[in-house]
Amino acid sequence: MDREELLEALCGEVRVCVKCRLSKTRTNAVPGEGSVRPRVMLVGEGPGREEDEQGRPFVGAAGKLLDELLASIGLSRAEAYIANVVKCRPPGNRPPTKEEIEACLPYLRRQMELLEPRVVCLLGNTAIKTLLDEDAWVARVHGRAYTRGGRTVIPMYHPAAAIYTATLKPVLLEDMKKLEKILEKGVKRHVGKMFPDSDMKNTRFST
Ligand code: SF4
Repeated sequence: MDREELLEALCGEVRVCVKCRLSKTRTNAVPGEGSVRPRVMLVGEGPGREEDEQGRPFVGAAGKLLDELLASIGLSRAEAYIANVVKCRPPGNRPPTKEEIEACLPYLRRQMELLEPRVVCLLGNTAIKTLLDEDAWVARVHGRAYTRGGRTVIPMYHPAAAIYTATLKPVLLEDMKKLEKILEKGVKRHVGKMFPDSDMKNTRFST
């Protein structure tokens, strides 16, 4: 099977998964979607009401803002892959529990192995604490570049946070500019130049 088929098989597993109690309250699981060779992978917390209804990630107001943020640096959804830490909606949009995250995380890890994104954006505290450091907080780490498993990882605020707190939108736009610079450097590396460690503003959490 090629990468596309493997990814679709994985998404099929997610759609019928009953590994945690979120399966009992979901309308649709939301495996993720986007390019099979993404320039960047975006990871949020979990589906909201509209995502649960449609079975697609980031389709509500936060999704519109995410599209706008991507467009601000000339990226489209078609060039990215968008997923969440948990694939089913926690009731009332509560944060997922540790047990739910542990049950679901293997799917995200397999998506990352298949998609091999060089750059991963972690949107909000749940993704940051799960994939970067459980003691990290978005307010402290957003916009910085870390390394994890050979990938560049950039924590950012979740777009939904900027809907409730308008002052966070310029912060997100600024962090997108940093993402743009990192992606540009990746292109240079691709044609033979090194990606210097000194470009990592803070490697405290690096593996
Ligand atoms: S949240 Fe993840 S582990 Fe839980 S039922 Fe949905 S797909 Fe399965």
